Amino acid sequence: MDENGLISSDNGEVSSDNVKEQPRNVYIWDMDETLILLRSLLDGSYAGAFHGLKDTRKGVEIGKQWENHILQICDDYFFYEEIENYNEPFLNSLTEYDDGRDLSIYDFENDGFTSPFDDSNERKLAYRHRSIAEKYAKGVHDFLDQQTIKSWNDLYSSTDSYTDGWLSSAHALLEEVVEKNKVPTGNGPVSAGSKSQNINVLVTSGSLIPSLAKCLLYRLDDVIPCDNLYSSWEVGKLQCFRWIKARFDGPKVRFCVIGDGLEECEAARLMNWPFVKVDFRPNGIHRFPGLDMRTIQSYIDVVYGSPPQVEAESYEG
Ligand SMILES: [Mg+2]
Repeated sequence: MDENGLISSDNGEVSSDNVKEQPRNVYIWDMDETLILLRSLLDGSYAGAFHGLKDTRKGVEIGKQWENHILQICDDYFFYEEIENYNEPFLNSLTEYDDGRDLSIYDFENDGFTSPFDDSNERKLAYRHRSIAEKYAKGVHDFLDQQTIKSWNDLYSSTDSYTDGWLSSAHALLEEVVEKNKVPTGNGPVSAGSKSQNINVLVTSGSLIPSLAKCLLYRLDDVIPCDNLYSSWEVGKLQCFRWIKARFDGPKVRFCVIGDGLEECEAARLMNWPFVKVDFRPNGIHRFPGLDMRTIQSYIDVVYGSPPQVEAESYEG
């Protein structure tokens, strides 16, 4: 993996004197049962934790609908049947094979793509990855029909309601990370990401393509760019954390892992990074809604020490 030049301008090279002195926080989120709930709805464990207060059957039904939407995006738009056996740990892992060809008139259905064990097929796989990245950047409204959009909006609302706002409050927290990076440019409106300082990264044990579909459908695409999503499916979370450290590390960079699983907990310990454990049970210490940036910052402070006063003030109010 090329560690140079991986921090694209989207990720915010720090250029302003105002932000240069502040630490950069890299928040490494787990997806399932952390930012979203899916498996625990399907197996009834989420409802079960509420001891009869939640309708288990409704949770299972919601989970099945999510599975259908995710599979539809994977199969209809993300080439999943063709490429599911070639899981890569991140979307731009094959950039070296991509010659930058214009894909707007490229015939994906007749390019003879088979097992990508030679340069030609690696390039065809790289084209598919680039096409997925372009769709991710544009968002689902660009390619889903109105009826599907409506059914998906309804599903998001009913899930958010069933989970007491888990999805929307998790999104709000990631949005807070992104919002804090917005710096007014002159008299004009704030420009998203132009002075980007703190970063959201997602590391999931799911395979890459369905995880990208989940990010889109659970509306995380505006707070996590697609090249900040890592699949630990084959390589494990510790390897992903090492890549993330190589990509973002610097003198004032601080990492923090937020997840529900033992694997990310152990990998964070090995990296000497703070770990915030999410627990969906109603008496869980950290869950959504509830988990806030002040709490996460307190975990970071324990490992890295308190930040300069200017940053501490930014978390008040
Ligand atoms: Mg998890």
